[in-house]
Amino acid sequence: MDQIRRGCLQVYTGNGKGKTTASLGLAMRATGHGHKVMMIQFMKGWTNYGELITAEKYLPNMTIEQFGLETFVDKENPSSEDIGMAQKGIDRARAVLSGGGYHLVILDEINVALDYNLIKLDQVMELISIRPPHVELVLTGRNAHEKVIEAADLVTEINLVKHPFYQGVEAREGIEF
Ligand code: ATP
Ligand code: MG
Repeated sequence: MDQIRRGCLQVYTGNGKGKTTASLGLAMRATGHGHKVMMIQFMKGWTNYGELITAEKYLPNMTIEQFGLETFVDKENPSSEDIGMAQKGIDRARAVLSGGGYHLVILDEINVALDYNLIKLDQVMELISIRPPHVELVLTGRNAHEKVIEAADLVTEINLVKHPFYQGVEAREGIEF
């Protein structure tokens, strides 16, 4: 692996649509150059996302692993299973980052997992601190913590201007999932 190129810490946050899909666009770009990509998804366990199917079927250099349940997490009262899964995600992210075998590591919805108290700020900061210099690390999810934003090299806030959800349009296959 190319050890010379500088990796950055990127954060995609905000309340508009496009954070996870922006990271997937980056993954598509990276795999095109033969880079190895790992996406670890927090708070997601539903397997019908198009990106899971695409990675599995067509992208040998990209792996997506889920560390969540199929059901939504109750912010006020997360279950011990929600917390346990998120903690497993942290362990997996630590192993992936310290192994250094991936060029691009995406921790999808990790900002939300922190905001919902499934994981601790110290754990996120530890992952940030062990990123090997050549690895690009991307953290997605709304309400990114100010300490995470401070540590980042690149922060993009995607703001909601309009979303068809507010016209009653439900999540659509191939667009929202
Ligand atoms: P995407 O996965 O489409 O890139 P996202 O990662 O920016 O969206 P999340 O905050 O993770 O969005 O939201 C989860 C789901 O809700 C996704 O299916 C997303 O398309 C949809 N969504 C995003 N923003 C909004 C919004 N403002 N109102 C309603 N639904 C939204
Ligand atoms: Mg998302």
